[in-house]
Amino acid sequence: MPHSPLIARTLPALSKALARLRARQSTLALVPTMGALHDGHISLIRLARRRAKRVAVSIFVNPTQFAPHEDLASYPRTWKADLARLVAEGVDLVWNPGADIMYPSGFATRVAVEGPATCGLEDRFRPHFFGGVATVVAKLFTQIRPDVAVFGEKDFQQLKVVARMARDLDLGVKVVGAPIVRERDGLAMSSRNVYLSDAERARATVLHRVLKDTRARMRAGAPFATCLDAGASAIAQAGFALDYLEARHAETLAPVAAMDEAPVRLLVAAKIGTTRLIDNIKV
Ligand code: AMP
Repeated sequence: MPHSPLIARTLPALSKALARLRARQSTLALVPTMGALHDGHISLIRLARRRAKRVAVSIFVNPTQFAPHEDLASYPRTWKADLARLVAEGVDLVWNPGADIMYPSGFATRVAVEGPATCGLEDRFRPHFFGGVATVVAKLFTQIRPDVAVFGEKDFQQLKVVARMARDLDLGVKVVGAPIVRERDGLAMSSRNVYLSDAERARATVLHRVLKDTRARMRAGAPFATCLDAGASAIAQAGFALDYLEARHAETLAPVAAMDEAPVRLLVAAKIGTTRLIDNIKV
């Protein structure tokens, strides 16, 4: 029988819960989320379970990573269903602070990230984003002091930014990446997929299809620029406004122009209606 997790909503409650979990020197893995949990999140939790004796999941919709025009207010919040899934997974601790706990009145600090955070992918379209992510993740790591933290490759640039920050600031956390979990038709799972109308949802499969087709052409030796142009056209044809479709070095995120610059990662971001989707694939 899965046991109910400890649930903390204040810093003193978190300290108390952590003291209980850390008894007998247990190792602890953290899975940071914004809730609206789906099978992608669950795969992270299962990987965390393999990496540490105890698993903590944070659920916090972080206001500092949303720009004023973005979807903070409408972001799906499904606490009851989330908790049921966390119970079923046997998670040990749920950290669910309010914005007033994370950013109390007078809060005036923001972590500035460079390197992978300024490589010209998400940062070009969401200049607010990585500063907000880095700030909240630095806080989560400091509050919880996990041995391991699991992040999805779904947010590939974010994974690199967080791993870099953890190393640079000696946060003592090993950042581990987890593979992308997809729907049966290839669409990468995302809490934002609920925004899609039926017609948009049907078209959204184009992103994964284009990633796979583009990868096949690249592997067959076609010039990257030609492959990327064809992919961009297919995405536009499906009714998306493309932000980027780019080949990057999988470690440094520097632009790459040929297969001999491997490891290569192909990354895409595009908007259909009001919903912005991202995806990526190993080439
Ligand atoms: P979010 O709740 O969207 O902030 O995501 C929390 C974590 O889950 C992040 O590390 C994401 O990269 C990861 N994640 C989201 N969707 C997926 C997916 N489809 N497969 C794997 N990981 C995912």
